[in-house]
Amino acid sequence: MDKKAMYKLSYGLFVLTSAFEGKDNGCIINTGIQVTNEPNRISIAVNKDNFTQKQVQKSGRFNLSILSEAADFDIFRHFGFQSGRDVDKFANYPDCKRAANGLYVITAGTNAYISATVEQSVDLGSHTLFIAAVDDMETLSNESSATYAYYQSQIKPKPVLQTTSGKTAWRCTVCGYIYEGEELPADFICPLCKHPASDFEKVTI
Ligand code: FE
Repeated sequence: MDKKAMYKLSYGLFVLTSAFEGKDNGCIINTGIQVTNEPNRISIAVNKDNFTQKQVQKSGRFNLSILSEAADFDIFRHFGFQSGRDVDKFANYPDCKRAANGLYVITAGTNAYISATVEQSVDLGSHTLFIAAVDDMETLSNESSATYAYYQSQIKPKPVLQTTSGKTAWRCTVCGYIYEGEELPADFICPLCKHPASDFEKVTI
């Protein structure tokens, strides 16, 4: 079986926002799709480790801000590489507003948002699949939506290497972090984006 075939699937990128008991939070996901037209429904799959997953589960409401090609790496770093358990991601965050449902949406680096109410949730083990009715939406810009492939080729910083040494290293395919060494420890966690060793690829530097 050619596992690389999975890489040919295309994905959008989104900031998923929700709130529960007065605490707002948001995270980056790539799993937003429209699943039915009449009635208009979307689905999202969210890792249970994400604080936002708990908020969606408890509140039953969320907004999906659609990231555009104008998004810079800072948005991914801010919403993707830190946890709402540790920081308040909306404290002093300038590029946001409250949508009609009271939840935040991201207003820069995005081209639209969709507000939704959860109708069904499916426990998938590591993730929860939420199927939700669309309540409201707004277009924010005419920029093209950012795909995961666009993030990989245009937004993620290129690793800056001072020399070509011929050494073996391991590169995080999510954020570009370089770990120098012949072997990457199996329990290694990327210090920048917190993704596991399985998201690293062997490279020569
Ligand atoms: Fe990383």
